[in-house]
Amino acid sequence: MLKFKSILFLMLTAVLAASATHAAAQSQMDRFIDDLMGKMTLQEKIGQLNLPVTGDIITGSAVSGNVVDKIKSGLVGGLFNMKGVKSIRSLQEVAVKQSRLGIPLIFGMDVIHGYETVFPIPLAMSMSWDMDAIRNSARIAAIEATADGICWTFSPMVDICREPRWGRMSEGSGEDPFLGSAICRAMIEGYQGANLADKASMMACVKHFALYGAPEAGRDYNTVDMSRVRMFNEYFPPYQAGVDAGAGSFMTSFNVIDYIPATGNRWLMTEVLRDRWGFDGFVVTDYTAISEMMNHGMGDLQTVSALALKAGTDMDMVADGFLGTLEKSLGEGKVTMADIDKACRRILEAKYKLGLFDDPYRYLDAKRAQKDIYTNEHRAAARRLATETFVLLQNNDGVLPLKRTGKIALVGPMANSRANMPGTWSVAASFDRYSTLLEAMRRAVGDKAEVMYAKGCNVCYDAELEKNSTMFGREMRDERPVDVMRDEALRIARECDVIVAAMGEPSEMSGESSSRSDLSILDAQRDLLTALKATGKPIVLLNFSGRATVMDWEVENIPTILNVWFGGSEAADAICDVVFGDVAPSGKLTVTMPRNVGQVPIYYNHLNTGRPSPKWFSKYTSNYLDVPNEPLFPFGYGLSYTTFEYGPLTLSGNAMSANGSITASVTVTNTGSVQGTEVVQLYIRDLVGSIARPVQELKGFERISLNPGESRVINFTINADLLKFYNKDLEHVCEPGEFEVMVGTNSRDVQRAKFTLK
Ligand code: BGC
Repeated sequence: MLKFKSILFLMLTAVLAASATHAAAQSQMDRFIDDLMGKMTLQEKIGQLNLPVTGDIITGSAVSGNVVDKIKSGLVGGLFNMKGVKSIRSLQEVAVKQSRLGIPLIFGMDVIHGYETVFPIPLAMSMSWDMDAIRNSARIAAIEATADGICWTFSPMVDICREPRWGRMSEGSGEDPFLGSAICRAMIEGYQGANLADKASMMACVKHFALYGAPEAGRDYNTVDMSRVRMFNEYFPPYQAGVDAGAGSFMTSFNVIDYIPATGNRWLMTEVLRDRWGFDGFVVTDYTAISEMMNHGMGDLQTVSALALKAGTDMDMVADGFLGTLEKSLGEGKVTMADIDKACRRILEAKYKLGLFDDPYRYLDAKRAQKDIYTNEHRAAARRLATETFVLLQNNDGVLPLKRTGKIALVGPMANSRANMPGTWSVAASFDRYSTLLEAMRRAVGDKAEVMYAKGCNVCYDAELEKNSTMFGREMRDERPVDVMRDEALRIARECDVIVAAMGEPSEMSGESSSRSDLSILDAQRDLLTALKATGKPIVLLNFSGRATVMDWEVENIPTILNVWFGGSEAADAICDVVFGDVAPSGKLTVTMPRNVGQVPIYYNHLNTGRPSPKWFSKYTSNYLDVPNEPLFPFGYGLSYTTFEYGPLTLSGNAMSANGSITASVTVTNTGSVQGTEVVQLYIRDLVGSIARPVQELKGFERISLNPGESRVINFTINADLLKFYNKDLEHVCEPGEFEVMVGTNSRDVQRAKFTLK
């Protein structure tokens, strides 16, 4: 007992000491910033709120001019999407040496899924369900980016998305708030490290606040409208997880919320983000989001800029709204000095925490840039993680894994493309260093097998559509006639033992401003697949994609399908690792795969209706005449080269109190003949509530590797916290009553048990 007391005492002392150190650091920072702000003119303060672009990536209409002159006049707070120590240093020197107060700039970039070592696109990464690997990918991204002068990334993007027509589904973690929150935490821990002041840490920016992933009809930037109950329960959790994980900044979204654009929405930026969740970092707008409020019909540039500042937005990305109008608004009483001071202070605090006032050049060490970027160790991590993201949708005839013998026909528009491998938003990519699938496959088989290649077809017949989907120099169109290309592919297919079809979307067919109304495999590729099938040779379809695709025809006609998304700089080698069986696939879907676009939005954690459909088709129940309700593949689904058997689900009890817990247990056995990895999933349904509750919600998962014949008992602890939800008054509560527990290999194939919360 005594021992316990003294441990408790020591722990308490440590906590008190830590909080005293924190308080001392805070007051030191406050004094520094008070002093600095005391010297700043109004224009210099507004200048800190200004984030123009000088980089190569321009996503909106505006490009800010005279940046260097503005830096000299103290009218720039930071810059983004510039690459390289030399160019960044030259502008930092202007700020430090030539502006009146020498306030350093903050340099940001869209380091979304890696830097030069590119990891799989975020949607793909989520399919790994591997939090350690995801955290590590962010850590490596931070090491590389900070070695190259960047200290602020516009990531993680945590917008929940049930809308595969929206191209930006590729940039998030799929449809689930529980998994999305876990990934958000892991990414922030990876980016910001143990201490933001470390030279290899960069500040995270949680985006896009909020609800950007729910645009009507899947059209980018479109209207969002949803109930607050849905926001809080289904869309907000990952953003809140970002606050809890200590993210330094947030980015506003382009869409409206309750008919007010997010950037000017005070309820969102102040009442929810700061007052309710306790966020103490700064908020930057998305690209030109302030001036875009004019198109939303919110008034002229002066009005919308004042609206944004008043709402709690601190930094203006590219719109020149703050810089151009805030002084006037102050004069006219439309904003106060306190509003401007608050925003300025938050940005200075971020710079302080990053250590930029101690040493403005701390991220500008050319030696680090030489040794820390695209290292063998980083590439190995990216390759390993990529193998975990591929989802084996079907392997009916056991064609996979391929043997390294005989002749392999590699066909399709993705087979020999270098530029498509890293995926959308790979701003810092160094394309020449990455392999095409053809190169990697020849390397993988060596002299044991022959890989023959033919492109076979273009992305699609419509050249205009292909052009618009292959922007940023990723053009790949082949000018040969359709039948010439197809015949070439068929010729080699007939000569070979197996066909590997590398097909799907080019990488810029998902990502920003890349919405699609048709989610099928594109026409030219479908026709080529049909012709290849007629050869009678076994086919492996590798589907490259940045979203959930519609593959009803493919599932019927092609027995082996591996979804490979966009796997990053090492994707080609990683695909070979899995295709040739060096690694068994383990990815599990984090988005529901629809049978057709008409089912969208389709997601696993939906509400029940008053007329659930017992079977298809049932008149006067909630179903379609022409398609079943069930998706093509459910959330959580994915096969391996081995099989896993689940023993019976047991609960440690059938009732629990609000401060107790229940353990759900299941034994999982690898019943196949190779080592494999399984993601065991826990879902819960609240059977009776004060509001309608979803038919199931993910509440736990565990990723386990098992050797052939090996078993493991998996235990999930269920406590009252896990059962909480936001009620009609937006209070976070758990309500007594009956709950159903589901455990299984995906959201559909589960075992069920019930317990009561007293
Ligand atoms: C995107 C953001 C991105 C920003 C800066 C915008 O168009 O919506 O996600 O961070 O550009 O490049």
